Amino acid sequence: MPNLIQTQLLINNKLVSASDNGTFDLFSPHTGDLVAKVAEATIDDVNNAVNAAQAAFPAWSALSPQQRGAPLKKLAEMHIAERDELARLDAIAMGKPISSHGVDVNYAVTQYNYFAEAAYPQGHTSLNSPGFLNMSLRQPFGVVAIIIPWNAPLIFLAKKVAPALAAGNCVVVKSSEKAPLTPWKVSQWVEKCGFPPGVINVLSGHGQVSGQALSEHMRIRALSFTGSTRTGRAIAIAAAKSNLKKVVFELGGKSPALIFEDADIEQAAKETEFSINTNSGQQCFASSRIYVQDSIKDKFIEAFTRIAKARKLGDPTMPGINQGPQADKVQYDTVQKFLAVGREDAGSTIDTGANTTNKDTSACHIHPVIFTDVPEDSRITKEEIFGPVVVINTFATESEAIAKANDTEYGLYASLYTKDLERALRVAKKLESGMLGVNCTSPTNSWDLPFGGWKGSGTGRESLLDSMDHYLEHKSIYVRVNGIGG
Ligand code: NAD
Repeated sequence: MPNLIQTQLLINNKLVSASDNGTFDLFSPHTGDLVAKVAEATIDDVNNAVNAAQAAFPAWSALSPQQRGAPLKKLAEMHIAERDELARLDAIAMGKPISSHGVDVNYAVTQYNYFAEAAYPQGHTSLNSPGFLNMSLRQPFGVVAIIIPWNAPLIFLAKKVAPALAAGNCVVVKSSEKAPLTPWKVSQWVEKCGFPPGVINVLSGHGQVSGQALSEHMRIRALSFTGSTRTGRAIAIAAAKSNLKKVVFELGGKSPALIFEDADIEQAAKETEFSINTNSGQQCFASSRIYVQDSIKDKFIEAFTRIAKARKLGDPTMPGINQGPQADKVQYDTVQKFLAVGREDAGSTIDTGANTTNKDTSACHIHPVIFTDVPEDSRITKEEIFGPVVVINTFATESEAIAKANDTEYGLYASLYTKDLERALRVAKKLESGMLGVNCTSPTNSWDLPFGGWKGSGTGRESLLDSMDHYLEHKSIYVRVNGIGG
């Protein structure tokens, strides 16, 4: 097998096998071929990575922001130079079409470049206690763990690693078992970019063992995680049972989109279809529940179905394809189970693949499926499916729309389409979500506004302006100064 990739771990700027030489197999979800033997990090590997990060911390945190920024900029340059290879690696690992991968690289590049320039943590000073000149300091934690999902590995790597390093921490990253190839590629550039040994350590492996070991590690003081709400809960428990490390969570979603009868129906259909079906429905903030006002139901469903039917499913490494397979067989099977529930529960089902002429699909591809008239308590209305599956239900009044939208344990992103500005603002205030689109929906967001969720969708907010705060402790210093007065 000449093209078989063999990955390693990056510990202390050395590319090494797992301590027990363990590996796991990674299969292309499009061809089913074995594409990589991936190193499976052990508890010893986790400990070695933490030791390396801890040893690197005093010197790294003592550098100036410009000195820490220099290798971050080089990392950005490497992403640009190798963008095609990065796209290919995610396509063969988890099926993301190369046609949409430019977003991931651009996002990562912006994060590395921004934090290379903007890392000037500030405390504050106070003369408000008579006889004292008081101050607060912002200081890095030391060793920070970063655990990322598979649906956009380079984005999550960059949005956590860049601010954590810029703040002066050293990191141990664990990539996802479903998409370890781009983090592996990045780890090969770390030394070349000028990072001292131990500043960035990159492990691959499953939640059990390495994810769990990071979550309960006594010398890791902060952990930033993006992934499912279920795993977030497990990490929170492990953190609580170990050293109460600070945790930052970006978790799952079941995001509602409300389409009022005065909306631009074509625009709403086009954008919600893109939201739920892009990346094969594997987006945390996908508009997976659409509520349409009764009077426009038929028109909206016709437009949505027409657009969904035009998707080009196939080989994600081909430029003309805009929908690849589900990330792997496990994800495929999970979506199939939800489809079975939907066919039982929904008033009607529109399978956009039923009459398709596009035959270039492998075992893990799923054509978009639309369920309508679904009970609000059905599992497909309540649970995150993470596939190209949408529920389209109706409402009669504004208050009914709000109640249905908020009837969820998630709160990542909500959206609404209407031409009535007062209604838009009234409803926007009442929806329980961390992000909200008015006459737009996800993936629309803004790099300088907080990204994150309410309720079960998370605990942190990430952005160019917010992220660095997560990686800094705050210390207040009270300094008595004789004669300074009041
Ligand atoms: P996941 O929770 O299954 O896995 C995420 C990461 O956690 C992986 O690296 C995995 O190996 C690791 N992990 C698993 N069990 C662990 C444990 N017990 N301890 C420590 N680590 C463990 O999620 P996923 O399937 O990779 O990603 C999809 C999920 O991520 C969806 O729920 C999606 O909504 C969510 N997500 C959220 C955002 C956001 O910004 N809110 C963005 C992308 C994805």
